[in-house]
Amino acid sequence: MKIHGLQKMTLLDFPGRVACTVFFGGCDMRCPYCHNAELLDGTAPAVMDDTELLAFLKKRQGLLDGVCFTGGEPLLQKDLPEFAAKVRDLGYPVKLDTNGNHPDRLEKMIREGLVQYVAMDIKNSPERYAETAGLRQMDLAPIRESVSLLMEGKTDYEFRTTVVAELHDDESFEQIGQWIKGAKRYYLQRFTDRDTVPFQGLHSPEKEQMEHWAEIVRPYVPAVELRGVE
Ligand code: SF4
Repeated sequence: MKIHGLQKMTLLDFPGRVACTVFFGGCDMRCPYCHNAELLDGTAPAVMDDTELLAFLKKRQGLLDGVCFTGGEPLLQKDLPEFAAKVRDLGYPVKLDTNGNHPDRLEKMIREGLVQYVAMDIKNSPERYAETAGLRQMDLAPIRESVSLLMEGKTDYEFRTTVVAELHDDESFEQIGQWIKGAKRYYLQRFTDRDTVPFQGLHSPEKEQMEHWAEIVRPYVPAVELRGVE
């Protein structure tokens, strides 16, 4: 299994834990604001393989208490369940970042106790979903299925939206609120521009705008918070 990046320690990625973050290549979306665009087609050079990563985790036992899987879309890795089981056997809880497009694989990870926290993207309202995911069209049924699966509460989870001034508006958050009504927690993450994002010319919303959009969601999901906003 190819590992395309390793952040050896993070206090931010796995709530309440000192974790490392493992980056996998390949994604079936093409969000114009993606921060990991170099990983999307799966051709970026690997920095290590799974054996080397497991050796790293063994050395860090007692120093780290969590492992985050991100990408790209980690659920595209067909060996992810076997790999997650080995990580679990070393005593590490796993957090999974996902775009929600693979509910069957997500369900297997949850059912087999291979993931303890899931952070799933809600890209936008159904009407603007494909545009926000950088696709000409898309079937939202898998996304809806993943939302329903997480809301069953069999594992801890959050929903989150990367918020971009050009892609989101009041209606986005009204629709998202209705869609995930009753969810455990929801984060609005402010987009930050970088030279490497696939589409240049996108902007971060102002703080006041982010707060306004959070207020739109709060009647549906009381635990709404902002990220990336001072
Ligand atoms: S789903 Fe995530 S990794 Fe894939 S293109 Fe969008 S932001 Fe990037």
